[in-house]
Amino acid sequence: MREDEKEVMKQAEQRSFDYLSSVDHRNVYPTQAALDGLRGFDEALPEHGCDSSQTLAMLDTLGSPATVVTNGPRYFGFVVGAALPAAAAAERLMLAWDQGAAMAMTSPTCASIEEVARRWLLEILDLPGESGIGFGTSATACGLTCLTVARSQLLLRAGWNLHEQGVYGAPLIRVVVSETVHVTILKALRILGFGQQQIIKAPVDQHGRIDPERLPALDAMTILCLQAGEVNTGEFDPFSALIPRARQAGAWVHVDGAFGLWARASSLKQTHTAGIEEADSWTVDGHKWLNTPYDCAMSICRDADALAQAMNSDAAYASGSKNAQKNLTLEFSRRARGVPVWAALRSLGKSGVAAMVERHCAMARELATLLKGAGLNVLNRVVLNQVVVQGRTDQETTAIRLAVEKSGEAWFGPTVWKGSAAFRISISSWRTEKADIDRLFLAIVKARDDVQAIQH
Ligand SMILES: *Cc1c(COP(=O)(O)O)cnc(C)c1O
Repeated sequence: MREDEKEVMKQAEQRSFDYLSSVDHRNVYPTQAALDGLRGFDEALPEHGCDSSQTLAMLDTLGSPATVVTNGPRYFGFVVGAALPAAAAAERLMLAWDQGAAMAMTSPTCASIEEVARRWLLEILDLPGESGIGFGTSATACGLTCLTVARSQLLLRAGWNLHEQGVYGAPLIRVVVSETVHVTILKALRILGFGQQQIIKAPVDQHGRIDPERLPALDAMTILCLQAGEVNTGEFDPFSALIPRARQAGAWVHVDGAFGLWARASSLKQTHTAGIEEADSWTVDGHKWLNTPYDCAMSICRDADALAQAMNSDAAYASGSKNAQKNLTLEFSRRARGVPVWAALRSLGKSGVAAMVERHCAMARELATLLKGAGLNVLNRVVLNQVVVQGRTDQETTAIRLAVEKSGEAWFGPTVWKGSAAFRISISSWRTEKADIDRLFLAIVKARDDVQAIQH
């Protein structure tokens, strides 16, 4: 190891350590001064290489203060978690390994660990043991993967070999999604050639769940996309009322469980996810509720062979077995996304995952009670870790959210619920404790009082 490499890697360790030591008391959303500092990066591409230590120092000095502290205890945006120590540490070591984890040939270590992670995931999520899992970058990419498999399989059953005959001229496939479908599913469908006008929206009830009474007709050429964890309310589609009907019709059922599928690893399993195991494919993120670092997600497919056929990238110089990750994901060269999953599951254990999920849900309920008590309008019935909140008017709602952001105490994002402005508070960081919920609550009430004082 060269001296300069040794030096910069030690500095990176130290700077990471210092940053992590500061996440409890940093402004959750950066100050204007810190944001202004980002202009420092706007230099010309250097003609000659710069010193590595100096580059790292610049990254830290200008970059760290302007980070949004998603890795802290009071970030409540987008249902993302922080990074669990075991998972973050595993990523660090993996960076030193620098494995291209396409297949066992390129990384026996990663291939072995990802196979264990597959087995553990199917156990903790109680999904069919024969399922194949691709460890990809995001629920977006993994949703695309699963929907690609769905499309090929439905066409194959109709006598059309997509891989040989292509998509043009193929029999038509219908797609039924929830009215409250996540935008990334629509993106995946767009990439696969399904236009907005071809996508049928299933009406939802007042909580944002597909209403079985009004489920559009399904047939053997239909892909039905369900949700475990509606993005605003955290609600679950009624799987046991929907999936048997889809199966009977011969449709393919995909479940987007980006964050919500983790409920299945907790005591909420029965109330929220009964019947979900009858679907054909599922996506779930690591980087949201499991609290792995980004980018980390899984495509889970009951028919492992179908997944391996749809994603196959065997070549003369690189033929992998059907469970080589390059044959289960969009990527060929890739980081082993399954390793941080393995580390997270190993450090928490089954009981630890359940406890984390249950604790977050309990805190969400407590927060909702506190907010209601203070006269705020909680719009959902809080069945998971999501609380949707509103002020008296759209302007007031936005003003409260921005005032909390400015206070540095906490951060949560905007949303629109039934046509009016709201904000969405997600409790999903392993770092969040009761005291953080109290601080969040006080910050919201203070913001609301300040906003109302100005209005009067
Ligand atoms: C976040 C989310 C996605 C997209 O996941 P990424 O990992 O950000 O690509 C899809 N569906 C739901 C319900 C989500 O919450």
